[in-house]
Amino acid sequence: MCASPVKPAIFLDRDGTLIEDRGWLRNPADAVFFKDTFDALRTLQQQALLFIVTNQSGIARGLLTAEEARQVNDVVVDRLRHEGIRIEAVYTCPHHRDDGCVCIKPNPFFVLQAAAEFNISPEFSFAVGDHPHDVELARRFGGRGLYVLTGHGARHVDELPPGTCVAPTIGAAAALIMGQRRDIPPNYIGALEAALRIRAGAVVAIPTETVYGMAANALDASAVQQVFTIKQRPALDPLIVHLADPSDLARVAAYVPPAAQALAEAFWPGPLTLVLPKKACIPDLVTSGRDTVAVRVPVHPLARKIIREAGCPVAAPSANRFGTISPTCARHVFEQFGEAVGGIVDGGPCAVGVESTIVGFWDDQIWLLRPGGIPLETIAARIGPVALYTSSHPDDIRAPGTMPRHYAPKTPMELLDYNTPVVFQPDTGHIVFGPDAPQSSEHVTNLSPSGDMAEAAAALYGAMRRLDAAGFKRIQARRLPDHGLGRTVNDRLRRAATP
Ligand SMILES: [Zn+2]
Repeated sequence: MCASPVKPAIFLDRDGTLIEDRGWLRNPADAVFFKDTFDALRTLQQQALLFIVTNQSGIARGLLTAEEARQVNDVVVDRLRHEGIRIEAVYTCPHHRDDGCVCIKPNPFFVLQAAAEFNISPEFSFAVGDHPHDVELARRFGGRGLYVLTGHGARHVDELPPGTCVAPTIGAAAALIMGQRRDIPPNYIGALEAALRIRAGAVVAIPTETVYGMAANALDASAVQQVFTIKQRPALDPLIVHLADPSDLARVAAYVPPAAQALAEAFWPGPLTLVLPKKACIPDLVTSGRDTVAVRVPVHPLARKIIREAGCPVAAPSANRFGTISPTCARHVFEQFGEAVGGIVDGGPCAVGVESTIVGFWDDQIWLLRPGGIPLETIAARIGPVALYTSSHPDDIRAPGTMPRHYAPKTPMELLDYNTPVVFQPDTGHIVFGPDAPQSSEHVTNLSPSGDMAEAAAALYGAMRRLDAAGFKRIQARRLPDHGLGRTVNDRLRRAATP
């Protein structure tokens, strides 16, 4: 198979990084390049694809028009092209920070869009800019940030997180990037390549917003069998079938109850799985022989692109050996499987970081089968009462990931009440939560020092992984308050602590 190799990318801020910051630029003639910009970018493009990501909130505030911003972008790209430098794409957020748009930095929206369109690896990529948002952007897409002291750089240098890489100019930043470059594993592949391989019956690891999935054509029983083999997963645990669009639901579900329809409209694409009567085309292996199929539409742009291009529903259980901690970045998949998995698509760290919420419909009730990325309260607010399903029989596995022990580290884990004080012992690692708990250190991971449950959920598996690798004799984890996403985190902690 002839796949084009995956490359790192550099996401460059525009004003204050490549050109002088002269306020909201309306006139292309005011775009003045720093003297080392051309040399720096010529060096970088030998190794990486170059993108510009710029916040132009002056547009939302009426200080310039979108057209004026576009003209300045065009002139910048043209001038760079004359200097032999190729910019793959320019991404402009026209919104104000208070608008709550998804595209404003440090949200990694444009980076994931670039990753869906080009063969890049966020983990091996860089963001360069003169604002702390550029450094935070890199953290959120799983790459590395470089801060330059040009533009606003000198003014905000005190706000940088400790350990930030600071360069006087874009030229120095380029030299640092060249020195920090690492080789991308040979089985990292682009989205299109992943789709082709899935279509051909292979298994590849793909990003979703919940966790990384081991993806195969859900209609191809032998491809699905490979997933079970690679994961060492028992056949009585059903898989979730992923669709590119809600309108594809009729391909896999024989019947959609009105309540399911309402939930799909409210929460798709997103981390919600519906268990519905299946169509005959779904192999028994996918459903553990049940007459229902678990189905969802992911929101991650790379997942949707891969599924759409593959042209089939995609079964994608978490990309880890059965029962171990779920992977929330491409590196986790590579660390467990190496090149034993034929392809890994890097889509950055998972934004939700815990598996989807699973809901079923029978006996005129709506059942919560597994708490997940969408809180129970949010679902109940939309649809009315939701009953908690607890299996009465160990073989009664109605939904994926509901076995008593799951998501577990190798180190024995002990579950404590929220607010149990941390007693420091050299052989014990601690998982804590909130502003009243200790800050993160060698022995402690605070899932969210600000007490944000979404942040805690996203950090959970990474924390378990880090403490598991640190060689402690035990891990003590404190439950979160048992509501919202706290319920989801507590469910995963409970399964991880089950012997
Ligand atoms: Zn925006």
